[in-house]
Amino acid sequence: MNSTYTAIKSYLEQHKVTLVAVSKTRPIDQLQALYDAGQRDFGENRVQEMRDKQSVLPADIRWHQIGHLQRNKVKYIAPWVHLIHSVDSLELLEEINHQAAKSNRVIPCLLQMYIAREETKFGLDADELHALLQSEQFHAFRHVQVVGLMGMATQTTDTAQIRQEFMGLHHLFQEIQSLYFAQDPQFNILSMGMSSDYEIAVESGATMVRIGSLLFN
Ligand SMILES: *Cc1c(COP(=O)(O)O)cnc(C)c1O
Repeated sequence: MNSTYTAIKSYLEQHKVTLVAVSKTRPIDQLQALYDAGQRDFGENRVQEMRDKQSVLPADIRWHQIGHLQRNKVKYIAPWVHLIHSVDSLELLEEINHQAAKSNRVIPCLLQMYIAREETKFGLDADELHALLQSEQFHAFRHVQVVGLMGMATQTTDTAQIRQEFMGLHHLFQEIQSLYFAQDPQFNILSMGMSSDYEIAVESGATMVRIGSLLFN
């Protein structure tokens, strides 16, 4: 495990890309081993599992919510979650804002974009993204900060297809940055790429990748 971790880590460092170790379904001792090797950013897709792990692992771990998030579960992670990657509606953002206010903090969020040629994936399309960012409601939120975009490519062996989807998301990211966040240097995260396609993602402009199976197997 450590040699794979070290190799991926040094590749990503060369490209100034942040590694989120996706630890869903992995037992505590495997997370602890990666922590001992220096890893601090961990990603989970289920709230209950993330809470259980958060309560027993070191307090300086940065927990990333990467999976679909139900509104009624936001309250459980709001006090400590580091970054929510999977915001796909104004209603969810409103609830995050509400719960973040109770914890007296501002929660950084990514807006999840639908980029795959698949029916089952969550996310916004470009029109919905513009509508959200232009809405009065969004501008009234004081306890969430949108710091970038997230996306998942189609699960396919067609690397040209994957590259096209990632490049499209990068292009949208740049457009959104200049249209809505020109005065906001904190809008700088593009979360894309997993075990099977992270190198394509890095070549296409990712600043953060979410890698699971490659690290833990
Ligand atoms: C599981 C998951 C990953 C990591 O997938 P691997 O193929 O194991 O690297 C990344 N992002 C999301 C949203 C996931 O659910």
